[in-house]
Amino acid sequence: MQTNRTKEDWIEVGRQMMAERTMAIKAAKTKKFDTVATHGLYTMEKAFSGNSGSIMEPIYLSTAEAYMDSAHMEAALAYEMPTWCYSRIANPSSGFLEDTIGLLESYGSDIEASCLATASGMAAIKTATDPFLIKDNSLPAMNIVTSAKLYGGTFQQFSVRRCQEQGIEVRWVKNPYDLNEWRSNIDEGTRFVYGEFPSNPAVAIFDIEEVAKIAHAAGIPLIVDATCASPALTRPLLHGADIVVQSGTKVISTNGTSICGMMTSRKNIISKVGSDEMKADFAVWAKLWPFRDNGPSISPINAILTLNDLRSLRMRIAQMSDTGLKVATYLENHPKIDKVYYPGLKSYPAHEIANKYMKLADTNENKYSYMLAMEIKEKAPADSKNARTFYDALQMIWRATDLGRCKTVATLNAISTHQQQGEEGRKLAEIKPSTCRISVGIEDPEDIIKDLDQALSKI
Ligand SMILES: *Cc1c(COP(=O)(O)O)cnc(C)c1O
Repeated sequence: MQTNRTKEDWIEVGRQMMAERTMAIKAAKTKKFDTVATHGLYTMEKAFSGNSGSIMEPIYLSTAEAYMDSAHMEAALAYEMPTWCYSRIANPSSGFLEDTIGLLESYGSDIEASCLATASGMAAIKTATDPFLIKDNSLPAMNIVTSAKLYGGTFQQFSVRRCQEQGIEVRWVKNPYDLNEWRSNIDEGTRFVYGEFPSNPAVAIFDIEEVAKIAHAAGIPLIVDATCASPALTRPLLHGADIVVQSGTKVISTNGTSICGMMTSRKNIISKVGSDEMKADFAVWAKLWPFRDNGPSISPINAILTLNDLRSLRMRIAQMSDTGLKVATYLENHPKIDKVYYPGLKSYPAHEIANKYMKLADTNENKYSYMLAMEIKEKAPADSKNARTFYDALQMIWRATDLGRCKTVATLNAISTHQQQGEEGRKLAEIKPSTCRISVGIEDPEDIIKDLDQALSKI
């Protein structure tokens, strides 16, 4: 196809595309959370320019993008104009999801965020951390400083893949409320600081702003996994974090059809290692280079399934949080329960920190998410008899290793998410044999409590 355009002409076309994108981002930044979640950057102009006027973002089930002529291909593959090129690198459908998450993670600020969608939450964590764990002979042996209160998969990725297999020292912060513990673990060899907000399943949090300051004083980035809060409650980038990761599998795509992840970064992150290009726009750099070479890309079908659920995130989080508080209050007052961990309870050790960081977008209202953990009373601390009796008696609440779902799910963590960690790992994460995580769904709270009540009565 002869367009008579030179490479320079194509680069100019690319400039116009980028200018239009900048305008669209600016316009989207004036809209409210629910509107952004619903529309992202998929405007009428976008629908009518090449998307057949489709009201919903189309699923591009296509491996590759075609170029009009050699000059077009040359400009695109030099990354001198926007291109999606090949679906391992990028895809228009995944792009719609990335646009929306980028806007939501930076919602309520003038931060310009870039997002990269991945095949899973674990792939997002790997993609977010790999670039900081590169060889640099001018620095001492590398280490990672991370909260010990982590999702089981992340614990495994850090302790088995990073530490045992790659020899990277992992320093566990056992009490994430203790700023001195974060500070004293960091030294010249530390490449990044990592934490979950709130953690899965212990529901521990930390002071994002203060930990970001500590990391930045050491010249390293703070990476936060905010899966269990979601951008409808907590946006770590607004509090100084450099990179935020999400398991999009959880509450973002609540209907449970697909696995997916996201990694979102602010511009000009702080790091001791890596190129200036990497630090300038981390998520875009990662997409163009290591992500392309490693291949953890998301399927365009999963991207659109996730995007469709994402639109109603804020209203679901509002309802699920209200239900979470009702269920937590019921459980806290139950004689067969020892302890309940839920950021909305006054008894929660970091209730004040939760009040600072967990607010429903577009309101000043504290909401505390959908996840809680409880310890069921046992005869001896190592027992799990009562917990199992309760668990096996559940009739509506699902027994599964899942969370953020529209359906309420209960998990006995010592035999599921944290089975492989062994005794030591469970101790680090404070998982007892009787620990049960409950992720409340969108059912009526009365019916959830009824099921818990009848199951507890079997003990
Ligand atoms: C589930 C989960 C992950 C991993 O996400 P996948 O999509 O299952 O790979 C990471 N972090 C947290 C907090 C999670 O709950």
